[in-house]
Amino acid sequence: MGTVIFIGAGPGAADLITVRGAARLAQADVVLFDALTDPALRELAPNAKWVNVGKRGFCDSTGQTTINALLVKHANEVDVVVRLKGGDPSVFGRLEEELEALAEAGIACEIVPGVTAAIAAAAATQRPLTRRGHGRSVSLTTAMTREGELQATRTADTEVFYMAGKQLAALSRRLLAAGWPEDTSVSVVSRAGWPDQLHSDHTVANLARAAMLHAGRPSVVTVGAGAAALRATPESAEMRRADPATRAAGVKP
Ligand code: SAH
Repeated sequence: MGTVIFIGAGPGAADLITVRGAARLAQADVVLFDALTDPALRELAPNAKWVNVGKRGFCDSTGQTTINALLVKHANEVDVVVRLKGGDPSVFGRLEEELEALAEAGIACEIVPGVTAAIAAAAATQRPLTRRGHGRSVSLTTAMTREGELQATRTADTEVFYMAGKQLAALSRRLLAAGWPEDTSVSVVSRAGWPDQLHSDHTVANLARAAMLHAGRPSVVTVGAGAAALRATPESAEMRRADPATRAAGVKP
């Protein structure tokens, strides 16, 4: 009987997988992969059998049952089955169902972490997710309930919403209802970590404006302390150097 290794592929570009993830992937006989993983990762396991188990949309329970069954089937046939998931396997990756299916079948597994989209977005925008003093907590939140309903909360200084890209206008309304002030910073990043990543800045009140730019692309919406631009940026330093009046006014970074 084989082993199943869950590997976080990271948010995009193939080189954001961890060194350990790449090494384990190279040992795979079979790879069950998701839609959001980079096709270039195939070069790390060219001789493995690659099976696309990507699900479209939300809460496809038939799809999940099939994936669970495929994991068990392949683990009974080969030595190493890799379950390659976008980002980190533990974050909105239906990992618990797959772990339970394997435990029931008595199949051993290992989990290799990956860079989750929230972290990739923070890197892309150079906006630290935690801030000393006022950004002490971060919440990774799905905007969608199991029933496909949109929900928004205010449980942390910084709230990062996954799976909200299609409903930004509704998210804006729900955020206001949850008690976020209208002018709270909101940063939207789509395809974080890919060469074509996009970023836009908003407030809770005008978040709906982000819809066009990010349409059809996986996006995370960061709200609160961790979404705010830093006071000192390369552009503001450039302005200070260029403008003696600003320098005289002693604008501090
Ligand atoms: N396990 C993944 C999340 C899977 S849920 C992780 O850890 O990142 C899928 C959601 O993740 C998408 O709807 C989107 O909100 C987010 N997402 C995944 N990849 C992304 C990327 N490259 N940029 C922005 N958001 C992304």
